[in-house]
Amino acid sequence: MENTKKQGNLANPLILQSEELYKYILATSVYPREPEPLKELRKATAPQPLAYFGTSPDAGQLIAMFLKIVNAKKTIEIGVFTGYSLLLTALTIPDDGKITAIDVDRTKYEIGLPIIQKSGVEHKINFIESRALPILDELLQDPKNEGSFDFAFVDADKVNYWNYHERMMKLVKVGGIIIYDNTLWGGYVALPEEDVPEKKRAWRQSTIEFNNSISSDSRVEISHASVGDGVLICRRIC
Ligand code: SAH
Ligand code: CA
Repeated sequence: MENTKKQGNLANPLILQSEELYKYILATSVYPREPEPLKELRKATAPQPLAYFGTSPDAGQLIAMFLKIVNAKKTIEIGVFTGYSLLLTALTIPDDGKITAIDVDRTKYEIGLPIIQKSGVEHKINFIESRALPILDELLQDPKNEGSFDFAFVDADKVNYWNYHERMMKLVKVGGIIIYDNTLWGGYVALPEEDVPEKKRAWRQSTIEFNNSISSDSRVEISHASVGDGVLICRRIC
């Protein structure tokens, strides 16, 4: 998390201001309850150069809570990496639950796979190595898939978030939950463009546009939570 830069009196201490407060939450409420296989997967991921891609455990805890609240049985995930959010989902849904997990690159998934197998939850996972958009469109060609998912976690390819959202509005059932990750983008969404490193500006802009579009989308109820790198939680209402 890029949360060390002080920006005055902002109301988002987790993302922008206090590393200490974040550590407090992890130490008090998250790590003591984090399932052992997830700790193991986090440790196996840590030496990876892109280890920060992994879903932060505090966001993971919130995701698990929503999975439980909606009794999620059939879920979809876009962006697997080494599998933290995937294993978390697999450990949380019932034994006959199913996760469609899509990532354009299988090699990182293979780092987490032995831990997933050891945890006895691999049978719940259908991993598809592909860009996500064509797979979502393929799923939508079968009317049986419409409104069939209880839950979706979207964590890849931020510039396509709105395209994913349009598909999720058909795939996820009314009353189902869709969680979009990294929607506060290290706090950059709230900074003037000139304070943002040049190579991050395009992503910042697409995140801002996505957040605005979701805010005016009457098909969903929303909550924008500042856990992890920001998660935008949507509940489909029509
Ligand atoms: N949820 C993961 C983190 C995902 S990181 C975790 O908890 O660890 C983002 C992932 O998205 C990367 O593994 C990358 O390979 C994948 N990705 C990038 N573009 C994609 C696309 N167009 N379709 C599917 N996956 C994509
Ligand atoms: Ca993420």
